[in-house]
Amino acid sequence: IAAERRALSRHRMAEAHAGDSFAVAHPLAGAPEQGTGAMAIVRRGKDFDAGQRDVLRYLIGQAGVSIENVELHELVAEQAVTDELTRLPNNRGFRRWIETEASRAERFDHELSLLMLDIDDFKRINDTYGHLQGDEVLRVVGSVLRDESRGIDEAARYGGEEFAIGLPETGLEGAVEFADRVRERIAGTEVPMLDGAGSIRVTASVGAATAAAKIDPTTLIDAADQALYRAKRAGKNRTKGTDLGRNAGADGAGKGDWAAKIRSDG
Ligand code: GH3
Ligand code: MG
Ligand code: MG
Repeated sequence: IAAERRALSRHRMAEAHAGDSFAVAHPLAGAPEQGTGAMAIVRRGKDFDAGQRDVLRYLIGQAGVSIENVELHELVAEQAVTDELTRLPNNRGFRRWIETEASRAERFDHELSLLMLDIDDFKRINDTYGHLQGDEVLRVVGSVLRDESRGIDEAARYGGEEFAIGLPETGLEGAVEFADRVRERIAGTEVPMLDGAGSIRVTASVGAATAAAKIDPTTLIDAADQALYRAKRAGKNRTKGTDLGRNAGADGAGKGDWAAKIRSDG
């Protein structure tokens, strides 16, 4: 331990001995401020000679590189499924999640609902206030979604100004209720202007789709997309839903459209 401590503080090989025990320690490769650590080797009866120390220095260097590679690998793997702007899972991350949830819903015979949320007239925000202000809107909407979907629900940035929210063990009615709550919160949220002068508000439209038993994720996503399209066509800032019932497999026709309880805030 004494040798390790010395190696860490001096950033180079250090030694210590007590009684007939001899130790040499060397810091692990990598930036010292990251606190990667040090490794030591101890033996009884005989000190390490210069050649043995060279080998140790080399081996411990390699161990440090391996540890750094693991950390780097984990970071890259996480970045691959995370949207940088909102810190929510991205499309790839959401796809992975829904594949897992669809098979879980099938195995346990649960319902699975999916919301597709699209910001209304977002292009106008960009055109009027610039892309950076648009990005700020996305960040704020993202944090509302993160806030509202806790526990087993999954909110993701599906792409552009579209978000997806997965709701396991939730029927269409619950999904529409959830969607309307999120929608109202978004509409009531002030997005601060980046230049500090006031704030803006946006609304969003939502398409909901629910399925049970055999669920093909692509079919569920398509159904939510179509419901979203209907919500847009009906005047935006509202939710429309579809219950695919127990037949949302890849070639299942589904039950057809179910006119979900619709609430419009005008
Ligand atoms: P609708 O109400 O029908 O949804 O109209 P909309 O203007 O929201 O939809 P449209 O698809 O016409 O425009 C979406 C815009 O979103 C266009 C695109 O430039 C913008 N966008 C996509 N990704 C980003 C982003 O990361 N940042 C910003 N600022 N804008 C983005
Ligand atoms: Mg869109
Ligand atoms: Mg839009």
